[in-house]
Amino acid sequence: AQIVLEEVKTEVVTLKQQGIEPCLAVVLVGDDPASHVYVRNKVEKAQYVGIRSLEFRMDATASAQQLLEQIDALNSESSVHGILVQLPLPAHIDESLVLQRINPNKDVDGFHSENVGGLSQGSDVLTPCTPTGCIRLLKDSLGEDLSGLHAVVVGRSNIVGKPMAALLLQENCTVSIVHSKTKNIQDICQQADILVAAVGRPKMITADYLQSGAVVIDVGINRIQENGKSRLVGDVDYEDVFAKVKAITPVPGGVGPMTIAYLMLNTLKAAHSQFKETCKD
Ligand code: NDP
Repeated sequence: AQIVLEEVKTEVVTLKQQGIEPCLAVVLVGDDPASHVYVRNKVEKAQYVGIRSLEFRMDATASAQQLLEQIDALNSESSVHGILVQLPLPAHIDESLVLQRINPNKDVDGFHSENVGGLSQGSDVLTPCTPTGCIRLLKDSLGEDLSGLHAVVVGRSNIVGKPMAALLLQENCTVSIVHSKTKNIQDICQQADILVAAVGRPKMITADYLQSGAVVIDVGINRIQENGKSRLVGDVDYEDVFAKVKAITPVPGGVGPMTIAYLMLNTLKAAHSQFKETCKD
């Protein structure tokens, strides 16, 4: 993650020399403590790499209409290149309606259906930060060419599992997706050269799920109570699998920081492409 941040930092300097100041707008609705921590981390990293960040906080009682108006204003503000609406939103607001309202060119989370469709067709679009960062981790560990490797993705959410599978397919992996209705999950996982766990179940993946030498990406972030203390663990039982795997991402400290680094990279990418568009005009 630190390497990616340094790359972004250097690129930001180049963009600024061309007269563009990349800018990320983060919208936070309500007072979910975890969301506040995530937003603070994002804003801090933006400052670190030299990306201007704007924060818009709205009351938990804000209406969907108020949020949509905020998004409209950011869509039409040309100095804003990236827009991120921190999820989850309060229950009375339809998440998909909100995500669809963001200009796809500013959709640094890659959740707009235009970007989701583009990813599935292999177009050069903004792709979700977590799985895109996971591809970078895999390439840093296994080399640029992931062709022919069997990747098993545990979980099929729109945010992680599905885009992860699409990105692995783009890298010419043979991809299996398993989920809560899959039979014989363990047998399928045992065939994995690459296993990506995005389930939300603490320490579900134990050594019995893996073949020796597998590379494991643990996306899960779960808070558990252990010996009277609260701590974060992944979906993989790190201690149990450690001796068996070729490489594994720790929790915390693995995919989480990489996700934020890729948010910075996506903001840069968005700023680049909007700059190119204005040059054309
Ligand atoms: P979701 O709850 O949206 O999806 C979980 C997926 O896991 C579903 O597809 C579900 O299957 C599947 N699943 C649930 N139980 C089982 C089981 N017993 N066996 C197999 N599959 C199962 O979660 P997310 O994808 O949003 O997040 C997953 C984890 O990753 C969470 O811990 C989350 O906190 C973390 N996360 C971390 C990020 C980071 O930056 N590091 C970013 C985003 C998420 P089904 O579809 O059948 O219900």
